[in-house]
Amino acid sequence: MGSQVSIIRPSYLPEIELFRPSSIDGVFECIKDGARVLAGGTDLLPWASQHGQPRKMVWIGNVEPLHGFSVDDERLQIGACVTQGELIRCADFRRAAPAVADSVQFVGSVQLRNQATLLGNVCSASPAGDTLPALLVHEAQVEITGAPGQERQVSLDDFLLAPGKTMLAPGELASGVSFCGLRANEMSAYRRHTERRALDLAVASVAARLVFEADGYTVAGARVALGAVGPTALVAIEAAKSLVGHPLTGETKSICAAIAAETCKPISDFRASADYRRQLVKVLVEDVIGEIEQRARIFKPNGEGR
Ligand SMILES: Cc1cc2nc3c(=O)[nH]c(=O)nc-3n(C[C@H](O)[C@H](O)[C@H](O)COP(=O)(O)OP(=O)(O)OC[C@H]3O[C@@H](n4cnc5c(N)ncnc54)[C@H](O)[C@@H]3O)c2cc1C
Repeated sequence: MGSQVSIIRPSYLPEIELFRPSSIDGVFECIKDGARVLAGGTDLLPWASQHGQPRKMVWIGNVEPLHGFSVDDERLQIGACVTQGELIRCADFRRAAPAVADSVQFVGSVQLRNQATLLGNVCSASPAGDTLPALLVHEAQVEITGAPGQERQVSLDDFLLAPGKTMLAPGELASGVSFCGLRANEMSAYRRHTERRALDLAVASVAARLVFEADGYTVAGARVALGAVGPTALVAIEAAKSLVGHPLTGETKSICAAIAAETCKPISDFRASADYRRQLVKVLVEDVIGEIEQRARIFKPNGEGR
């Protein structure tokens, strides 16, 4: 008889020492003491119940300043405790950052979004994290606080290092995330492919933000980002460049889609093969640009299409 290997994983939460300070200083004391930051807990608690750790957590939900968010025409600023549900219910947020609003709408379920924070999705750094490509095309910056008064801003692109790994050093807290709102003649969108309609992670995803010339057709600037097709969400610089200076046509869209598919670095796993993911990227790039075109019709005289 061969030897039997059994993997024992607790399916219950281990005993956790939970701290609930009401000030940032209090949070830092707990972090220094080895506690892991707990925001909505929708990633961290399932992890803890599978792996039996971390045993010390500091819940940041009692820290009032981390609950703020502001939306103006130039920039959106979202505190670490703002939930995805709060954001999606805010009309100004949906108007200022349509791609990010699309991406939040895809995360989990209504109950989950009312618990999960935007910044928790960023700090989890999953290659399939829905908000990451959308935040990348809106040029997000993560606000890192090393200790009270020691703050720095890092572009999201630099912040994401590897699956589950970010630039956060031990003892640091991500206190917020800020990103560009749409300016005149701009539009953005996000699309993903999943096997199920809800409560599933993206097999591949694409976000784009386009700036149009005053004619409403010619692309003056572009950003494209891809999710679930590399170790981190990635910016597809060459794909975006291929659109600039051209009107959106079947040909320009398919050139952009082909370059994006070449740029990505997918793996094969139980969800899809690398080749299938590349094909999905092509389809999703064209879908996203099509969606932007539809939404951007409002720029054109009398809202007419081409
Ligand atoms: C059923 C289910 C469905 C899901 N569906 C999706 C989906 O469709 N798309 C998707 O992208 N994700 C999905 N998720 C994953 C998860 O919900 C998101 O990643 C969520 O946004 C995490 O936010 P949170 O506030 O719950 O983070 P938490 O679980 O509290 O934290 C996540 C990680 O980030 C760290 N962290 C959190 N905030 C900070 C901070 N301010 N500073 C430093 N570190 C911090 C924590 O220590 C932890 O390591 C799903 C999860 C579940 C359980």
